[in-house]
Formats: sequence, structure tokens, C-alpha cells
Amino acid sequence: MYRYEDLREVHLELTTRCNAACPQCPRNLSGGPVNPALPLSELTLEDVRAIFPGELVARLRKIYACGNYGDPMVARDTLPIFEHLRSQSAGLELGMFTNGSGRTPSFWADLAKVVTYVRFSIDGLEDTNHLYRRGTQWARIVEAATAFIAAGGRAEWDFIVFKHNEHQVDEARELAQKLGFERFFLKKTSRFFAAGNVSGRRVLDRDGAPAYMIEEPTGDRFKNPAVVRLTQLGRFTDYQAETEIACKAVQHSRLYVSAEGLVFPCCWTGALYPPGRPAGTAQIWDLVRRLPEGKASLDARTTPIRDIVEGPFFQTLVPEGWPKRSVADGRLEPCIRACGGTDTHAAQYGASLL
Ligand code: SF4
Ligand code: SF4
Repeated sequence: MYRYEDLREVHLELTTRCNAACPQCPRNLSGGPVNPALPLSELTLEDVRAIFPGELVARLRKIYACGNYGDPMVARDTLPIFEHLRSQSAGLELGMFTNGSGRTPSFWADLAKVVTYVRFSIDGLEDTNHLYRRGTQWARIVEAATAFIAAGGRAEWDFIVFKHNEHQVDEARELAQKLGFERFFLKKTSRFFAAGNVSGRRVLDRDGAPAYMIEEPTGDRFKNPAVVRLTQLGRFTDYQAETEIACKAVQHSRLYVSAEGLVFPCCWTGALYPPGRPAGTAQIWDLVRRLPEGKASLDARTTPIRDIVEGPFFQTLVPEGWPKRSVADGRLEPCIRACGGTDTHAAQYGASLL
């Protein structure tokens, strides 16, 4: 893997908390009860100061707040953290991904002064967005985006296409333009494939009762082309054994810091708590348990980030899996899924429609 001096990008999870409950997000069970395996954790300004030495921030080209389990908007110290990072590097690209349904207009206006962009995840219009972004309120999203844009912020819109919103793509694009968004992306989801190549998912209420179904889009132009290719393959186990792994963390000189302060090469290896703990997660836990202090060996609040990157998880345990020829033999399933030759993740995005 890369060395500490090579680092140029950081993906940051500020919190595992969220105001929403999206049915395909692992922080909850199908949009219903909160995932019982998930620790509620959050990085403070003090944590960020301790984790990222000034010399590291100064040479980074990009830090973006997103994460596996939470929305950075809801973290207590989001704004002071971005202000601190900006004070360390005037040219650093700072980004945030959010559902946008929260905080005050003044928060968004202040944020606009320090970040490079905010990517709002808005999957439809007023009558449909909440079917996936459960718990969000349309008026608050519009208020947030309007305040951010009015203060000079660069707003971008991600629209995950489902059957229930595919008829609204053009109207949403027009609204994005009217509100002053600078970019508008359709996201061709791969999550139905990741869930076992199903075409729909039952959404649950907070008490676990079935509520309704969400389904993949019907239009061919909204289907993920890499998923289409994978579904046409013969045996998936052959693909898992044979595909070349091109590590995105290495390609972008990037690492991931979780809301627990744990450092991983990427969010895929850092996904420790998905519901049901699938096989790939069990593989990562097996590697973590081989570290001298287990999970604590990856905690950048107590161990210098340089030592973690130069340590066994990054330099031997993860890379050793890449040349293996089967998952059973130690080829890491998250690496195949995220960085194999048929890239369902990258294929989610096309060019901006604005
Ligand atoms: S907004 Fe993001 S963090 Fe929150 S439930 Fe949805 S996908 Fe998960
Ligand atoms: S999933 Fe594996 S191969 Fe892909 S970026 Fe992460 S460590 Fe690298």
C-alpha cells in the first residue's frame, strides 16, 4: 500500500448519527429500527485536531465528509471542524455529503464560506424524496440549499433513481437549475445488486412493521451498466477469483477515518457494522483481530495516524488479500466488490446534467 508521506485525500465520517432512515443505509434495518450493532459515535473538534497533524492537512488536496453510517450535517462540531481545516490550508478541497434536512439557514450560510462544495442527496421531489430519505422534510432541504447558495456556496445535487421517482428526473433537474445548484448527478444505484440482485426491497417502519416497497428503476438509461454486465456473467465466483483488483485508496492516495476515529484504507474496509455482518465484514474483523490491540490499534485518537498507515493493517494484512484467488482463501470481498474490474460503484455516476 502507499506510505504515510503519499497521502493526499481523506474521507471523513464525522458521526454515525442521522436524522433520516434510508432503507438501503446500514445505519438502520430497511428504513426501520436503528441497526442494533451500530455504536453511536462522533468526532469532536478536539478529535480532529488530534488525528490530523498540521503537516498532513497542509499537503492534502481533498477532505470530504460523508461516511458509512451518519450524516455529517448532524454532528455537533461540523462547522468548527471545517473552519479549523480551512485555517490549516486555504487551497484544500473541502466537501460534505448530506440529506440537507436540518440545521439553520445561518449554519448553511456559514458553511458556504469555508467548504468548497456541498453535495445534497435529494432523491426526487416534494412528493417522493421522503420515500427513500425517510424522515427528511422537503421545506427544510430547500431552505438549507437556498441559504447555502445565497451565501455563495457551490451546491451539487445527487438524485438516486428508483421506480417511484424516475418520472421526475427532468423536473428535478429544472428545479436544481432554478435554485442555483451548479451540478446535478443521476445516481444509478448498485444497492439492489449488492443485496443479492433483487429488484425491490421492503421498507420497514420504526417498529419493524412492513410499510411499502422501493424498487429499482424500469428505464434502461437509469440502470447501472456495471451491474447489468455482472448479471450477464456466468458464475459470480469465477469473477470473484479472476477479476483484477485496482485499489482505489492507492490510486487516490486516500484513507478513511470513521466516527470512532478508526483509520482504514477506505469506507468499504471500514464498514464494520452492517446489519447481519455479511461475509466480507467478517473477513475485515478477522484482520482487525490479528492486530496487537485489535480495533484499538486503528484508533487515531490514541495512535498517531502515521503509525497506523505504516502498520500491519495497511502494509500487509489488506494487500496480502489482493493476489489470492478465492474469498475462502482470503481474497477480501470488499476489495472485489469496490475495486474489481467491473466497477459498480463508479458506474453509478455519469456527467453532471447541468
Ligand atoms: S441520510 Fe445518509 S446516513 Fe442518513 S440514513 Fe440516509 S444514507 Fe444513511
Ligand atoms: S476495498 Fe480494498 S482494494 Fe478497494 S480501496 Fe479499499 S482496500 Fe483498496
